Amino acid sequence: MAEKRDYYEVLGVDRNASDAEIKKAYRKLAKKYHPDTNPGDKEAEAKFKEASEAYEVLSDHEKKAQYDQFGHAAFEQGGGFQGGGFGGFDFGGDMGDIFGDLFGGMFGGGARGGARQQNRPAQGAHVRARIHVTFEEAVFGTTKKIEITLKDECTSCHGTGAKPGTKPETCPKCGGRGQIVFTQQSMFGTVQNVQTCPQCSGTGKVIKEKCTSCHGTGYTSSRKTIEVTVPAGIDNGQSIRIRGKGEPGINGGPRGDLLVEVIVQRHPKFQRQDTNIYSTEPISFTQAALGATIQIPTVDGPYEYTVKPGTQTDTRVRLKGKGVPLVRNKNVRGDHYVTLVVQVPEHLSGEQRAALQKFQEAMGEVPKKKEEHKDHKEHKGFFDKFKK
Ligand SMILES: [Zn+2]
Ligand SMILES: [Zn+2]
Repeated sequence: MAEKRDYYEVLGVDRNASDAEIKKAYRKLAKKYHPDTNPGDKEAEAKFKEASEAYEVLSDHEKKAQYDQFGHAAFEQGGGFQGGGFGGFDFGGDMGDIFGDLFGGMFGGGARGGARQQNRPAQGAHVRARIHVTFEEAVFGTTKKIEITLKDECTSCHGTGAKPGTKPETCPKCGGRGQIVFTQQSMFGTVQNVQTCPQCSGTGKVIKEKCTSCHGTGYTSSRKTIEVTVPAGIDNGQSIRIRGKGEPGINGGPRGDLLVEVIVQRHPKFQRQDTNIYSTEPISFTQAALGATIQIPTVDGPYEYTVKPGTQTDTRVRLKGKGVPLVRNKNVRGDHYVTLVVQVPEHLSGEQRAALQKFQEAMGEVPKKKEEHKDHKEHKGFFDKFKK
């Protein structure tokens, strides 16, 4: 397979593009390259697949965060894309939604809902939550407790929703299939229409007497405290997946996951980009000129740094390994880049002014005051000669 193009490049958006911009860019490309509008055009099909793949990653906050940090490598081992032929591509989640409004439901609609997956075990829905951590907590990792409302199977009815001692009954309207088929006459002839059964809402079962503990829902909700391990190196907007802490599964399926988005507070001094930290450090004019030993704040505490004599303003210093660890290997750390900014004094005392004027003379920027009289004649003589 050829070298993969950068997903942002594929969609023609920059790295700071908003969700809406990413969606817009993708819709444009999907419309242009869709196989229906380009029948038999292999190149268009390839472009369409490429854009779809890029969109699936960049529209998913979690995948996007992984991609931003690890590039294509994030999806290479396990759980990645199954690429393959066009037919094999998985249009799940938001992909269905976007095609739903693009192509009038050709990908969504009929295939979803209905009774197709009615009684199959299915994983419960994912639950999303957010936590706030400080800059340093994100760098070094921490644990946080969060309180969320979690659904559990009702212990009285074991999730059936029927009053203990009774059972949900097969829906008489649809015969337990969850859907109703009816035929309709249209300009294309007789059309079979499939509709979700209105009586059982597609479950295929009706409850005559509801369980009083859960009011027939089959679930009870309770507040639960969950400890979240925040790995060292996590960045703002990345999510932590806690398996099995989402909603209960359907028909015996596994529970969904809890996805905890991490919001990292701004630091007054440090900025972060990927695994590097950036800051600026003021140094005085004399420290810059003469050299000095200064203490530079880092996430590991003050770092003793020797400013070389003759350091210019905006000199960038690299403190190797003082940055942020990689989430997957906390022994590998980025760097801390410090920009030394030379401060020019705003207010001078008489003594300071005099000292600087002396310095200015020493630099030869102005004629030396004391020796002015001595030199005067010579200069005069020179200019007089010159005039003549
Ligand atoms: Zn119940
Ligand atoms: Zn029914």
